[in-house]
Amino acid sequence: MRRKLAAGNWKMNGISASLTELESLATVHANAGVDILICPPATLIHRAAETTKDTGIRIGGQDCHANAAGAHTGDIGAQMLKDAGATAVIVGHSERREDHDERNEDVRAKAKAAIDAGLTALICLGESLAQREAANTLDIIAGQMSGSIPDLATGENMVIAYEPIWAIGTGKVPTLEQIGEVHDFIRTRLERRFGEGVGRSIRLLYGGSVKPANAAEIFAVPNVDGALVGGASLKTADFSPIISALETS
Ligand code: PEP
Repeated sequence: MRRKLAAGNWKMNGISASLTELESLATVHANAGVDILICPPATLIHRAAETTKDTGIRIGGQDCHANAAGAHTGDIGAQMLKDAGATAVIVGHSERREDHDERNEDVRAKAKAAIDAGLTALICLGESLAQREAANTLDIIAGQMSGSIPDLATGENMVIAYEPIWAIGTGKVPTLEQIGEVHDFIRTRLERRFGEGVGRSIRLLYGGSVKPANAAEIFAVPNVDGALVGGASLKTADFSPIISALETS
């Protein structure tokens, strides 16, 4: 059985005052029936981990360097995230692929570095609008999977998020059939590559404009094991009903 996961990506949002959102989230979901992960900006990871210590909420990074340490000004290694209190890290988010020109092989190296450091790698995949309209979605996902996912993946050390780029922060959401098609496709390919046992144990999140109003129907789609949520994860008032929808799905 895959345990469901509600993951929040705060992106470049959040200062000290935002930690009160974590306190309220921990209070409201003190006995959550699903895993909850919040990925705040790096500046808040340590304090977020302290704030959520002894609660069910886990803290993650939003990126890590492929190398463990060295002369990489401004970058953060996976071991450093772990040392700060993170248990997971997002790699290959489309905003990083676009803003920092990250290619599949970079994402794969980062995912491997995360796993080597003992973190769960949350690997993002997703097509652009042009690729979707050209009916290339499944080819793009297949290429991203073979290029970005390291060989040592298991259900414990890796989570995959399908995030159509055109749905991120836009309020546009694919149809439930489109989400189901891609999630089934990812599951089948994982089983083929890693074997049925491992392939079935890896959690698949949907991400892209998940809101309280659409969460329940998305969570009812087979092979959707939770969500990676951006904007609606910033406030407990928005994220909490999404967590509750996942708990009852
Ligand atoms: C994201 O950034 O991963 C994301 C899904 O953002 P939003 O929920 O705001 O679309």
